[in-house]
Amino acid sequence: MFERILIANRGEIAVRIIRACRELGIKTVAVHSVADKDSLHVKLADFAICIGNNTSAESYLHVPSLIKAAEIFDVEAVHPGYGFLAEDAEFADVCESCRIKFIGPSPAAIRTMGEKSLARETAKKAGLPVVPGSDGIIADTNQALKVVDKIKYPVIVKASFGGGGRGMRIAHNEPTLLSAITTAQAEAESAFGNPDVYIEKYLEDPRHIEIQVLCDSRGNRVHIGDRDCSIQRRHQKLIEESPSPAVSDEVRRKMTKAALKLCQAVQYESAGTVEFLLDKDDSFYFMEMNTRIQVEHTVTEIAYDIDLIKEQILIAFGQKLSIDQRHIKRRAHAIECRINAEDVSRNFAPCPGKIEFCSFPGGPKVRVDSHVFTGYVVPPYYDSMLAKVITWGKDRMEAIKTMSRALEEFTVEGVKTTIPFHKRIINHSRFVHGNFGVNFTEQFISGQKW
Ligand code: ADP
Repeated sequence: MFERILIANRGEIAVRIIRACRELGIKTVAVHSVADKDSLHVKLADFAICIGNNTSAESYLHVPSLIKAAEIFDVEAVHPGYGFLAEDAEFADVCESCRIKFIGPSPAAIRTMGEKSLARETAKKAGLPVVPGSDGIIADTNQALKVVDKIKYPVIVKASFGGGGRGMRIAHNEPTLLSAITTAQAEAESAFGNPDVYIEKYLEDPRHIEIQVLCDSRGNRVHIGDRDCSIQRRHQKLIEESPSPAVSDEVRRKMTKAALKLCQAVQYESAGTVEFLLDKDDSFYFMEMNTRIQVEHTVTEIAYDIDLIKEQILIAFGQKLSIDQRHIKRRAHAIECRINAEDVSRNFAPCPGKIEFCSFPGGPKVRVDSHVFTGYVVPPYYDSMLAKVITWGKDRMEAIKTMSRALEEFTVEGVKTTIPFHKRIINHSRFVHGNFGVNFTEQFISGQKW
């Protein structure tokens, strides 16, 4: 097994990876910015090194500093977590050329799936259903109008290198289409350094369903069921669960088969997620593939009793998958709420600052993944997630009741959090009945006073 791994990340995911490494007997190296010097991942790791100033560009995204740290501590592998460099094929290339194992798929698979319009074409070729839309990038407005002529309004203009819900614009008619293209291109250029966009039919309030996969370097591939991530705000996930209350066994069978077909087509290795949109008539369409561990991997871990981070590390070491499809059985229903330092009453504005007091929920069937504690200062430089609360039960209702209780117990003083928002969603009759699509949260928020 690896002796030493560097974790090129921060926050709860760095802590999560340290925990998996410790259980596998692997020593960990934490890297951190100046602002993160007192963070939990720094305290928990076996070794820690400051790699730069506070902005992500000067620290967690700064490849030369990360490689230097890896060399100083003589690590054999780097775990990128999610976000930052997790889907950066060039970083994976640099690691490879420095003989450091990048814990993730090959640079080629990252490249193919990282460019969304190319991923769409690849999925189509592999026989997966894709949302009707343009064949590749939109070159000019004439081509855009031709595509829309075929697929009809409403449509969604999407940045090919987009992510995090950015670079997407919906259009209902010709004038809004033209402005959607211009704004999506400008946003994509400034956020991702590339203005390429493509067009898809905009589905009316579908569900976001994704399939977790694990593939080893020897061609063994398994799926670990589905997650429903339809509770979103501005296309960003807020609540996830496994399994989806809306997916029939028949749809799940087809979707998991499609996901594995795509993995085979790109010779995928590592943990990954194939994302789909599920329409009201049960048709589903490939949307994108995330070539990394995801924030919401936790609900799958609980529902199926599988440690995805450990599996990911073992795969990177070249081991055969420790589980085969026949033995993967769901044991529980799991739900996760992402707790962010945001002021819900001020349009979810980020709320950095000192946590004066913090007490996590506990008791049966509750897991909290977090890097914060009483006295921790939430820096303004990174994303605002403070914790993930995961609850479970023998069925969905039990998981919901436990979540409701856990959210009541969760106390954070000093900064505003999204806990009040989650309490209302979790207890909302539409959520309880599993009756929601990706637009539910926005519809819900517009009628609320906080
Ligand atoms: P990102 O990579 O930025 O997260 P995705 O392509 O995964 O972007 O899409 C994020 C969300 O945007 C989806 O979960 C869904 O809510 C919405 N979305 C994307 N494509 C469509 C579409 N064709 N029709 C309706 N909603 C869509």
